[in-house]
Amino acid sequence: MDEAIIRAGWAIWSVAPRDGEPPAGDALVGAFLASEARVALIDARAPGDLGLRAAQALGAVIAATGAAMLVAVPDTLPDTLDAFVAAGATHVLTPDADDAMLHASLKLAERHARRTLDVRRRRTHADGEVGEVHRWIADAMDHGQSCLAIIVALSRLDLINAAHGRPAGNMLLRSVETRMQAAAAEVFGDGAVVARSGGAEFVMAGVAGPDRARAIADTLETLLALPFQAGSVPIRLGVRLGLAASQPSEDPASVLARAGEALSQAQAGDGTMLRFAHPGDVTPLDVLAADLHHAIERGEIDIVFQPQVEIRSGRITGVEALARWRHPTLGPLGADPLFAAAERADLGLALSDHIQQIALQRAARWPLAMSHLRLSINITAADVARAGFARLFLERVASSGFPIDRLTAEITETGLIRELDRAAVVLDSLRQAGVRIAIDDFGTGYSSLAYLTSLPIDYLKLDRALVSEVDASRRDRVVVRGIIRIAAHLGMSIVAEGVETHDQAVLLGRLGCEIYQGFLRAAPLDEAALRAMIEEELECAA
Ligand code: C2E
Ligand code: CA
Ligand code: CA
Repeated sequence: MDEAIIRAGWAIWSVAPRDGEPPAGDALVGAFLASEARVALIDARAPGDLGLRAAQALGAVIAATGAAMLVAVPDTLPDTLDAFVAAGATHVLTPDADDAMLHASLKLAERHARRTLDVRRRRTHADGEVGEVHRWIADAMDHGQSCLAIIVALSRLDLINAAHGRPAGNMLLRSVETRMQAAAAEVFGDGAVVARSGGAEFVMAGVAGPDRARAIADTLETLLALPFQAGSVPIRLGVRLGLAASQPSEDPASVLARAGEALSQAQAGDGTMLRFAHPGDVTPLDVLAADLHHAIERGEIDIVFQPQVEIRSGRITGVEALARWRHPTLGPLGADPLFAAAERADLGLALSDHIQQIALQRAARWPLAMSHLRLSINITAADVARAGFARLFLERVASSGFPIDRLTAEITETGLIRELDRAAVVLDSLRQAGVRIAIDDFGTGYSSLAYLTSLPIDYLKLDRALVSEVDASRRDRVVVRGIIRIAAHLGMSIVAEGVETHDQAVLLGRLGCEIYQGFLRAAPLDEAALRAMIEEELECAA
């Protein structure tokens, strides 16, 4: 089946769960989103219910984003089909289907996904990102003026990023924004508003009657077709417009939705405004990225805390703050889809800021019973690369009131290597100020202790991939023992991640590991649950 797909050159994400461990739901969702495919193909023909469970795990994300789920079902009994449809399948394939049938079904699923993804994305645009334009139109219409709403789509800016580098892409975006403002002023005079609505789309509205629509569209196209400057590189972008004129007593959302529809048509048909092929295809991740723009304002981003336990005493000595997204329709989403969406939406830094801020603020208000806990916060390579990050971070800590000597900053090895020089400076300033430094996910990447000696590091967090094998594989045990020994030699402590069994904890303790974090003690907890756990621990000790 896979071979047939590869031959046809489709971007399909597929999974064929076989006997053994059921695939973790979170991991499936993350993998599907990361694949950027629009169709999830589940081969559920193997005996057992793993296929159905995979379908159930993906159902919510498929429904919420408008992607498609094609399931090769094990049989065609009504109950089986019902179960898969209930799980969220949008298309099914009988067990005896041949390649031709598979191809036809994939085409149908693809077409279904393309349509719904596009519509959903526009809907999210209309309800949030363009809030300013929305309010502007409402205001103009309240004053009895008629408006034109225009959505401008530029051909993929990320191609420019790839071809000329990200700085050029950013410069280009700034010059596009400036040009967009100038173009709006040119066609509408003072009475106009422009907003970027994510990616390479802009929304514009101005006071004008429908009779001027054609002329305005022509002028905009001409102005935007002139080359843009990204540094010394002149770049031409493809431009498509969708335009709608307000009807008396229509609401702004509907005007914007019609402009969005017009844009879809311009992109789909061979109309005069179609200058380029389909703009970047919309993926489920794009839909999620569009949602994320408002998730922060709406307070949907939350923090959970996972205890870190001292192996010797069994006491909780600290917690790691981990991000969650309480998605209005998808339910709680893990950190991986959240950060993938943030990267797509260019919101990585905003998200990082937000998370650090709320984690610190909450921890600063912890009751006395929790005042011995350390707090670990994750920082990213992008954080470190940012100008003035150390100062910003330290100011944030100071204004939260959380004691700096109880704070740990975690950064992954990959994050370090990508920005080694900067990272050294940043970590140094943080450490001087009293923050402890942990290297996250240690043991999977470069794992070079050599460069670590040149950095100020307090903890190594042993990756859970190593930990999960420690009681089974002798080789991993040797590696772990080696890491622990060298770390001790360099004055670093070890925190073992992903400890799930008592045996692992005992063994790690014997190897010289001091602290662990993992499901054995607790999954990441909300604040109330954490508090209850700490209070119980204190009562037992008393
Ligand atoms: P991480 O920093 O290595 O976080 C530990 C991850 O392991 C968490 O997943 C946690 O839920 C999971 N975990 C903990 N104990 C166990 C266990 O015993 N077994 C297994 N199988 N897993 C366990 P989560 O929350 O999905 O986070 C994934 C990654 O996303 C994190 O890996 C971290 O790199 C990133 N992340 C999460 N929250 C934040 C944040 O607030 N800021 C930044 N920059 N990154 C974050
Ligand atoms: Ca971490
Ligand atoms: Ca980790």
